Amino acid sequence: MEPDVCSAKGCRAAATRALAWNNPKIHTPDRRKIWLACDEHKDSLGSFLSARGFLQETAPHDGTLQPR
Ligand SMILES: [Zn+2]
Repeated sequence: MEPDVCSAKGCRAAATRALAWNNPKIHTPDRRKIWLACDEHKDSLGSFLSARGFLQETAPHDGTLQPR
């Protein structure tokens, strides 16, 4: 099985963090989207989401956060 890779555009690095987010304009409140991030992109992806008010929580990418 392929390792999970970072969600940043064009990045193929292995993910180390999971970022849970929800866009209230298009998602119902019970939905949870997951982006994965490598060490290099965890800050930029996190600030992209938090600047828009979408970020719910982050955790190590160990399967704790699952999409729903
Ligand atoms: Zn990356």
